[in-house]
Amino acid sequence: MICTGCSCLCDDVEIRDGKILNACYRGYKVYSKLSENRARALVDRREVSVDDAIEKAVEILGQAKNPALYGFDTTTVEAQEVAVKIAEKLNAFIDDNSSFCLGEVVEAILKKDVPSTTLEDVRDQAYVIFYWGANPYSSAPRHMSKFTYYPRGMKRLKGYEDRFLVVVDVRRSETAKLAKKNAIFIKVESDDELVESFNLALEGKAGKYAKEVGTVITELKRSDFNAMFVGLGLKYGVRNLDGFFEMIRKINRVAKLYLIPSAFHSNMRGFNEVLFEKTGSINKFSFKEQRSDKLFAFTELLKRDEIDAVLLLGTDPLSSIPFEISKKIMRIKTVVVDPKMSLTAKIAKVVVPSAFSGFESSGTMVRSDGVRKRLEPIEEKEVNDLWILKKISEGL
Ligand code: SF4
Repeated sequence: MICTGCSCLCDDVEIRDGKILNACYRGYKVYSKLSENRARALVDRREVSVDDAIEKAVEILGQAKNPALYGFDTTTVEAQEVAVKIAEKLNAFIDDNSSFCLGEVVEAILKKDVPSTTLEDVRDQAYVIFYWGANPYSSAPRHMSKFTYYPRGMKRLKGYEDRFLVVVDVRRSETAKLAKKNAIFIKVESDDELVESFNLALEGKAGKYAKEVGTVITELKRSDFNAMFVGLGLKYGVRNLDGFFEMIRKINRVAKLYLIPSAFHSNMRGFNEVLFEKTGSINKFSFKEQRSDKLFAFTELLKRDEIDAVLLLGTDPLSSIPFEISKKIMRIKTVVVDPKMSLTAKIAKVVVPSAFSGFESSGTMVRSDGVRKRLEPIEEKEVNDLWILKKISEGL
């Protein structure tokens, strides 16, 4: 089966005699806790049938003046497509975690502003493996062993001995500790200064990190296939991401360097692609205004008390966004669709229990590099995200 514990979507995971094989500790945790704390169909915290919960959800969303839809990063492409249709039908706002995660990186790749490639090609060909502001050790534990640094590939027959590792971070992360032989760890105080150093080096001038940048550029020039993986450390470390993308384009004039976002929720990229195809934007979209804007990010809408109802699917904002903002959810009518009785589900007006995409329902997800994977669940549950969203859409 395919593990949906993170955006690596590892396709070699097996369930045998009730045990999960080949998964990392993160995937194991999801599988071993599958049956714990499951959601129940609730309206005003009273137990009801699933049909009654869906009927109430339709009533709330249909009567709302300014509804929003938020989440959708752990569900399938098929369910995301229905979610976008619901948002369009309601003239609503729609957003996902990518607005404060790596959305801009996915957007630059979808718009072809920077070159990107697949993880299989990285495994087979990449010489320099460059992690900037990313620590796959915790965010995507099999990233390095399955796709990037350790595995042997067609042109990298000796695995990591045939590669050069670059790690940029503000601290010596677990990934940075691996940067010993054939490797360099660049500890930065400011990511912007490192971007500037690359730009200066490419113009033949010396910046603050001249020595380290000189080494990296020399190594990049040794191969026609190198890959950089960026994480949240980069997103929150640089003031100007466009300047960073410009640096990637400049490097590509002297050496081939492909960019891939490192890791995020299992199908965040799927959401970005579905919305991009429909609207030309990847997140923070208002169907009423027919445009995307940072003011339409879910957290911003909450801050300004701009919405009166929200459909949340596969997300738990009460435990993931600052309480000062998320507590405003208690003031609006909230419909939660989730396999688990999350913190947000506990205060929701309506809860519709769903299946775990990947483990309990099939469909398609998009890996961090844009490759589509067909899910092969352990069992197929009828009441899954797609079924629930279709019912809501039909009711509206
Ligand atoms: S790396 Fe991600 S997809 Fe792969 S087994 Fe671990 S959690 Fe699952």
